[in-house]
Amino acid sequence: MFLIVKTDYDIIVVGAGHAGCEAAAAAANMGSSVLLITMNMQTIAQMSCNPAMGGIAKGQIVREIDALGGYSGIVSDKSAIQFRMLNRSKGPAMWSPRTQNDRMLFACLWRDMLEQTKNIDFWQDTVRELIISGDGKKIEGVLTGMGIEFKSKAVVLTNGTFLNGLIHIGEKQISGGRTGESASYGITEQLVQIGFETGRMKTGTPPRIDSRSLDYSKMEIQGGDDLVDKFSFLENTTPFAGPNHKKQLPCHVTYTNQNVHEVLKTGFEKSPMFQGRIKGLGPRYCPSIEDKITRFSERERHQLYVEPEGWNTVEIYLNGFSSSLPIDVQQKALELIPGFRNVKMFRPGYAIEYDYFPPTQLNLTLETKLVENLYFAGQINGTTGYEEAACQGLMAGINAHLKILDKNPFILSRHEAYIGVLIDDLVNKGTDEPYRMFTSRAEYRLLLRQDNADIRLTPVSYKLGLASKERLINVENKINNSDKVINYFKTNSAEPTVINDFLISKQSAPINQKTRYINIISRPNIGINELIKIDIGLKNNIGKIENESIEQAEILMKYEGYIEREKLSAEKHERLEQLLIPASIDYKKINSLSTEAVEKLIKHKPFTIGQASRISGINPSDISILLIYLGR
Ligand SMILES: Cc1cc2nc3c(=O)[nH]c(=O)nc-3n(C[C@H](O)[C@H](O)[C@H](O)COP(=O)(O)OP(=O)(O)OC[C@H]3O[C@@H](n4cnc5c(N)ncnc54)[C@H](O)[C@@H]3O)c2cc1C
Repeated sequence: MFLIVKTDYDIIVVGAGHAGCEAAAAAANMGSSVLLITMNMQTIAQMSCNPAMGGIAKGQIVREIDALGGYSGIVSDKSAIQFRMLNRSKGPAMWSPRTQNDRMLFACLWRDMLEQTKNIDFWQDTVRELIISGDGKKIEGVLTGMGIEFKSKAVVLTNGTFLNGLIHIGEKQISGGRTGESASYGITEQLVQIGFETGRMKTGTPPRIDSRSLDYSKMEIQGGDDLVDKFSFLENTTPFAGPNHKKQLPCHVTYTNQNVHEVLKTGFEKSPMFQGRIKGLGPRYCPSIEDKITRFSERERHQLYVEPEGWNTVEIYLNGFSSSLPIDVQQKALELIPGFRNVKMFRPGYAIEYDYFPPTQLNLTLETKLVENLYFAGQINGTTGYEEAACQGLMAGINAHLKILDKNPFILSRHEAYIGVLIDDLVNKGTDEPYRMFTSRAEYRLLLRQDNADIRLTPVSYKLGLASKERLINVENKINNSDKVINYFKTNSAEPTVINDFLISKQSAPINQKTRYINIISRPNIGINELIKIDIGLKNNIGKIENESIEQAEILMKYEGYIEREKLSAEKHERLEQLLIPASIDYKKINSLSTEAVEKLIKHKPFTIGQASRISGINPSDISILLIYLGR
């Protein structure tokens, strides 16, 4: 008999990584009673690899999570040690916020926020078995390593890299979910027994270095942006607000060279990757250093980023030097990098292999097709990255809550959010290598900008009961103020005498007569904030409006034509999303469908024509046949 006060919950979340934390927070904030079970409460929201959030396309996801009421943006802002808006020189669809973070503070803040969230209980233990109804069709709870049965209406599995995790360093193989942490056994085997497919993937991480052993005079310095921005749309999350820590920490840049490469090559005969001991596929866009010098053998050097791990530590993350070569080879190669002659490692780089479940086994809500009310989120679905994991957790948490209350699911489409693109890709196309988000995966990039994530998502999240009233009011103010600016630009004109010097200085043609501001702002290189500085009339009328609304208005005016075109295209595609395929459809009876199409449609069970059209192997001709069959 166990003395546990409560063993019955609405929702159990297994794992407190980025996916698990967001899942627990979302479900609890919507009103479910949640139990968050994780192997080690000291590692809640641990950043397993680089201490950074956001970046290209990932920054957009963090802003979307924030707009929906998730916590990742707030935690990232409050633990930031450096902020950069990447791609500022390109169009606004490409702007991507990124923070370098204090790894320990990030985890602490997450735990603090979860502890302050009503409806979440915690239990440190390892789930080793799922409790599934006698007919194998519905989840009923979990059984832990300590032998405790917890019951629930829904379970969200977010095991990350822990399922049968195997760490590789040179010829050494160590069982583990992350260095220093145990792997998780039993869940994969049980799920395979009831019909789930599984596969292996791998990822790797670089050595961590003692900053005191480095010579920074041999490296280039890389500071943060002068104009510090942030992820969260809430007002009180200003970065660098920690005690006495107002100044951003710089990163440094250095390079490998031919000597480093030669030393690395001496370890190849003991490399788990090159000797075939690692079977799983790794992230193509995050290759190890040994992979890089092999695949790009013509390159004389590779760039490395020397990134601090936090305010109060001398530990350094060596971005770009991920490796699973033997420790002595890693050490010798490091010593030949400029600035690293006396380098001391804190922890060696390593690779890890783990089980994942091909995500085509999920519905768009992230509920498994085989077991009702069982949800998968994060790395377990074949993705890589904190942001990708966190947004899946959020969506799984929301949908698990809605499902147990018999409410309509919450699904974001491809033109509404990167989160929609990610889940749609996973569920319809699947992935056989670690999936990370890129802007190129989204067909409506100009609609899915980081600056308008709140406008796109907060109203709907508020309706769900997740985003707070404060968030909604902020969005409404932003829209109103941006409309005010646009209206002013459409109805008022600039005087040649006031702005011509400025236009000429920007290599823009001077105006001969009064010209509507909207025509001026649509020119390249001309920004509202610069205009305000030289035009007193403009300053008096819109100068007091906050920067977010000004920026929003500027983007909407400059890119109006392109944005409208994308909206029209999205609407056209949305019509296909509305065409439901009846669950009773028998694809085998549709003679003209190709055999491949029949197999794929039976396997994936798409709910709509739009979804069917994105399954790999389904051709436009198959879609036409389906439309005719359905009487369209
Ligand atoms: C070595 C390494 C290198 C990586 N390199 C990169 C990279 O270069 N780029 C990149 O984008 N991403 C990288 N990642 C991936 C990144 O860490 C993950 O994408 C992200 O952490 C996934 O989040 P998650 O919530 O799905 O899982 P995780 O963050 O792995 O969290 C899983 C959680 O589940 C808990 N858990 C697992 N099994 C059980 C169980 N049975 N019972 C209870 N609790 C359980 C664990 O304790 C942990 O808290 C790397 C990860 C590792 C380990």
